[in-house]
Amino acid sequence: MLLSIVTPCYNESGNIAELHRQLSAVADRLDMDVEFVFVDDGSRDNTLVLLKEVAQRDPRARVVSLSRNFGHQAALTAGIQHAAGDAVVVMDADLQHPPELILDFVARWREGYDLVYAYREGVKPRLGYRLINALMKITVPAESADFRLMDRKMVDAFCRMPERARFIRGMIAWLGFKQIGVGYTDRQRFAGQRSYTLRQTARMALYAVLAFSSIPLRAAAVLGLATLGLGLLYAAYILYAWFAGHTIQGWTAQTMTILILGGVQLVCLGVIAEYIGRIFEEVKHRPLYVVREWIGPPRTPAGTAHATRDRQPVAAGDVSGEW
Ligand code: UDP
Ligand code: MG
Repeated sequence: MLLSIVTPCYNESGNIAELHRQLSAVADRLDMDVEFVFVDDGSRDNTLVLLKEVAQRDPRARVVSLSRNFGHQAALTAGIQHAAGDAVVVMDADLQHPPELILDFVARWREGYDLVYAYREGVKPRLGYRLINALMKITVPAESADFRLMDRKMVDAFCRMPERARFIRGMIAWLGFKQIGVGYTDRQRFAGQRSYTLRQTARMALYAVLAFSSIPLRAAAVLGLATLGLGLLYAAYILYAWFAGHTIQGWTAQTMTILILGGVQLVCLGVIAEYIGRIFEEVKHRPLYVVREWIGPPRTPAGTAHATRDRQPVAAGDVSGEW
């Protein structure tokens, strides 16, 4: 039995040594083979150099080096697709996710769970999560992090999900399987700074909603209908006033109507445009990431683990999406 531990790393030079130390300690306590799959997501500092050093010293370590920064979700996907384990753990590199929890994950996995996810204990679900859950047809466990163990059959299913707009927590929730949560308390970053900007977080939330829900489209239609209703009411009022012989002060009313109508139309167009943008991204069918270098035993990234272990090496420039 092999356990893969996948960590996406972007500018994490201050954390690599400590991460590797703590992961090794956990691996030593496990009675199964372990591989560490580090993904360098086009770091600008010397993260890649440090990861290569780790891989030289530790035969359990593998490194997927991406050709540029593709973002957390793409890096995670790259790691999962390159992992060969019977179970795959994903976690962040900044030690906010306590590595010891992996021992609990494995225990639960052995009990027969296909998905063991970590959730932050004692934290109220943030508004964002509640909104996402309200809009999506699936439920993302509140305050779950990208810290979880997946069984091979779930990993294989995940690898067959080709969408470009990736909100992995939502995809995992969509997959289902027998699952259980394990609570933990989030820690401070060990070193370095958070690389997600507010803009990225907002974009992620937008992706999540757009990828999993068509409610905004329906809301646009409802908004249009409501405006039409108001317009009709207003028309009825004007007709009534005309018959009653009142003079109607047209200017302000007209300007208002035009502004409101124009606004509603632009908002609805904007919503539709967002969806068209997503469709465009999907039909281009670009790879999710591009591999510059793979350091580790020969392996073809694929959905199937055991087949993976001894197929031809991953070529440099290898991309995802076609398997
Ligand atoms: N990360 C990445 N690519 C990016 C941004 C982040 O691979 O473009 C990694 C980062 O190295 C870390 C994880 O994703 O291991 C989570 O990032 P971060 O700690 O910045 O986010 P937070 O934990 O604050 O949500
Ligand atoms: Mg973090």
